[in-house]
Amino acid sequence: MTKPLIVITGASSGIGAATARLLSAQGHPLLLLARRLERLEELALPHTLCRRVDVTDRGAVEEAVGEAEERFGPADAIVNNAGVMLLGRIADQPADEWDRMIDLNVKGVLHGTRAVLPGMLARGTGTVINVSSVAGRKTFPHHAAYVATKFAVHALSENLREEVAAAGVRVVTIAPGAVETELLSHTGDEQIKTDYEAWKKAAGGALDPQVVAEAIAYAYRQPQSVTVREIVLAATGQE
Ligand code: NDP
Repeated sequence: MTKPLIVITGASSGIGAATARLLSAQGHPLLLLARRLERLEELALPHTLCRRVDVTDRGAVEEAVGEAEERFGPADAIVNNAGVMLLGRIADQPADEWDRMIDLNVKGVLHGTRAVLPGMLARGTGTVINVSSVAGRKTFPHHAAYVATKFAVHALSENLREEVAAAGVRVVTIAPGAVETELLSHTGDEQIKTDYEAWKKAAGGALDPQVVAEAIAYAYRQPQSVTVREIVLAATGQE
């Protein structure tokens, strides 16, 4: 096995699962993290370690990365993809939903990054790929707390790039528009969900997660001397 280890968070569905399939087909050993272990194992990918890890738990992320690096060698990349979107109005959205989004979408990215970054800096190579969103640059109705977390992902990625570029580590931000995944299903407000689906339909539908996986793989496969800083991609009909 010649290809290096890649860590993917939130690989049990949607963009993360598609990315895991693609990078595995390209010959990479993988560490896949999510809470639904059975969904990770159903992917049945070779040279892959699956661990039930909630990425809001920094110690658990570090432990799993340590175990995978012992088995497969140093992690050359991490795809910080795990995220949750809970749409609502600031006036009446349950406040614990803000905590969930901030803890996962922002601190989860920091936890994944911290678990691999010291090794990358010591080796002078590596790639951190953070999955943000078009909603990391632009706001949408009922997205206030979610866009706050995705603006944060853009900001921390840009700052991280400035911090580690001279040491040879690349930082990539992936910013998709609407993608057909389980993401919307976690929102509790039925009217907001219905409105979102209608907006998606009017835009001619959403991207297939495979398209986002290919963008991630494109950024990763550039020579280490080239950093694709940001990829923004959306369905053609999306404003
Ligand atoms: P999915 O809901 O299909 O996937 C989310 C993934 O995150 C799942 O694998 C889920 O696994 C994992 N996850 C959720 N909570 C945790 C946790 N606490 N610890 C570890 N893993 C967790 O949605 P997408 O594939 O769409 O989302 C992936 C990323 O893409 C997110 O960051 C999202 O914000 C972003 N994105 C999505 C867009 C879209 O329209 N779908 C558009 C732009 C960006 P499990 O439940 O098993 O833990």
